[in-house]
Amino acid sequence: MTRALVMHFGSAKRAAELKFYLESSENFEALSSVFNISSRFAGLQSLKCAIAGKNLFLRFSCSTGDAMGMNMVLKGVQNVMDFRQMDFPDVDVMGISGNFCSDKKPTPVNRIEGKGKSVVCEAVIKGDVVRKVLKTSVEALVKLNMLKNLTGSAMARALGGFNAHASNIVTAIYIATGQDPAQNVESSHCITMMEAVDDGKDLHVSVTMPSIEVGTVGGGTQLALQSACLNLLEVKGTNREAPESNQLSLMSALTAGQLVKSHMKYNRSNKDVSKVSS
Ligand code: ADP
Repeated sequence: MTRALVMHFGSAKRAAELKFYLESSENFEALSSVFNISSRFAGLQSLKCAIAGKNLFLRFSCSTGDAMGMNMVLKGVQNVMDFRQMDFPDVDVMGISGNFCSDKKPTPVNRIEGKGKSVVCEAVIKGDVVRKVLKTSVEALVKLNMLKNLTGSAMARALGGFNAHASNIVTAIYIATGQDPAQNVESSHCITMMEAVDDGKDLHVSVTMPSIEVGTVGGGTQLALQSACLNLLEVKGTNREAPESNQLSLMSALTAGQLVKSHMKYNRSNKDVSKVSS
């Protein structure tokens, strides 16, 4: 998870001095131990600085266990700020979220650097299946996808790679499993690619989603219905053996086709999901 604050200095030189300090590999260990002090699940991974005149933007990236982690990262950032305040009393922290994070906005930085989980899925669909089940051809699908990517590119650039189909699915899953639905904005960043393989017979499809923000503890995951849905996917709460693997299971369950199966079973039935025990 990432959080970026913005600081203002009396001169660009002072902003650069803090940038050099923070980016020096010699200082990383000290910074990460200060950052991690407020949670046993927080683990500072990297720190990226960008200067604009007298302003310094700091983008902290951190592992957050099974939580989505925005609050956890914020506490860590605050710890680092309190720590550096001694050497940089002239700094004016203008905002704890300086849009380099970037939260709930479609921005290229999330698409390029990633935020939350970055996922790439691929599949080869046999030509037979394309013809008999999808009732089209590999060539037609490749052409259409190329056209959509080309015509959509101006908008995609403006919005940071937004995919309307992904946003439907992500928002539905987020509401059902207690994630922050407003984060569907960057979580729906999606690049779909199609290519003919095996001498043009079969179709290679890949979906790249660089900034999916999910958690199985904290936030709305505690609500009764959302908790029931996480139980259905068998990923609720903390994974004791390997924190963070619940989030991967949550996404794997969805990519493994269980989304559609669950949809047919529960959405199209009269069963009261709220009665599923938590
Ligand atoms: P977020 O930071 O995603 O907004 P919260 O602050 O609401 O989430 O919840 C995270 C809280 O859950 C932290 O206080 C953290 O100590 C606690 N927690 C308990 N188990 C875990 C876990 N396995 N992974 C991450 N956080 C956990």
